[in-house]
Amino acid sequence: MMLGMIQRRAFRFRLEPDGAQRQKLARFGGAARWVWNRALAEQKRRLEAGERTAGYAEMCRSLTEWRHSPETPWLAEVHVNPLQQTLKDLDRAVRDSFRPGTDPARKRFPRFRKKSAGDHFRYPASVKTRVRPDGWAEVWLPKVGWVRYRSSRPIEGRIAQATLSEEGEQWFVSIQTEREVPEPAASEQPPVGIDLGVVRFATLSDGSYFEPLAPFKRGARQLARAQRRLSRKHKGSKNWRKQQRRVARLRRAEGRARLDFLHKTSTTIAKNHGVVVLEDLSVGQMSRSARGTPQEPGKNVRQKAGLNRSILDQGWGMFRALLAYKLAERGGRLVLVEAAYTSQRCSECGHTCPENRKGQALFCCAQCGYSAHADHNAARNILEAAGHAVQACGGKGHRPPDEAGTRGEAA
Ligand SMILES: [Zn+2]
Repeated sequence: MMLGMIQRRAFRFRLEPDGAQRQKLARFGGAARWVWNRALAEQKRRLEAGERTAGYAEMCRSLTEWRHSPETPWLAEVHVNPLQQTLKDLDRAVRDSFRPGTDPARKRFPRFRKKSAGDHFRYPASVKTRVRPDGWAEVWLPKVGWVRYRSSRPIEGRIAQATLSEEGEQWFVSIQTEREVPEPAASEQPPVGIDLGVVRFATLSDGSYFEPLAPFKRGARQLARAQRRLSRKHKGSKNWRKQQRRVARLRRAEGRARLDFLHKTSTTIAKNHGVVVLEDLSVGQMSRSARGTPQEPGKNVRQKAGLNRSILDQGWGMFRALLAYKLAERGGRLVLVEAAYTSQRCSECGHTCPENRKGQALFCCAQCGYSAHADHNAARNILEAAGHAVQACGGKGHRPPDEAGTRGEAA
């Protein structure tokens, strides 16, 4: 019998709510933000008092109190599920921030939500969709009703949850689905090792490579300029608010471009390769390495610190998550190997010494004379390291992708 696997998909559509529904969405979004901020304030108070933070169940008990409090009667008008989901998110964010080995991006202690950032809330499975006789697609949101949306493609799978988010003046729904599909036959595509970098986003052991997304840089400059302008405007003024919306719009455009790039790159790689090998580097480790190690003191620390900012911008964690699930769907798999001397070791003869590395771009072996682009040499080493890992202990196999990755949404 064939074993199934769960395939997760996200479908995102623009909502077309009527006036009353728009008010309800705003009220739900505002309530979710209030609950997040109220519970976060309580967690902070506890930490400052030296107490342990509240768990999810405890926060839910507080939520019941707030919903019955005469001070916040509007909370009771909002469906309880999205508010519970908000507490679930907060609970996870707090626990992530304490967990050792988490990527710094997730390790940050949760912050208060601002209305200007756009509200969002999530329903668990209780959401359904239908198509009206006049052709409009509608989504059922409990306590809001049937809301029209612009359907750009059919929804596949069972609805697992739905997230509503406000961007500018618009509301969007992202419907996450699950379905069981047969486990694909093992891929017959060739294996490949990949070195992730900054000058080249990804260099493959077959010598091909992917340039980083150029618009990243342009978008970053535009964003920086818009933020500078914002800081010069009088806070709270009409112009300030206008500029604030502009900053938010640029930030969303950048996020979309980045996600699109990561999707395209990971799809190409997953289509053409069976086993893909990456170094098991957390983003945190990559940042730290610029400060140097006893063996390799960090030269040009300032220049490298600049590079590190781009490392964090590349979205490597997301790339890894996307690659893992795309490979799994095609019968391939992601293997992670420990990073060890991949930049100093000759992939031809195995000779390992710091002299092999001639600057950032060129690798030239002091023993056998093999020379190649340094990232290409590293990618070959990474692939070879997996050969041992796979034979010795079955490798680490692929990791189940983060939820963040499977949702396919920009951060
Ligand atoms: Zn050599």
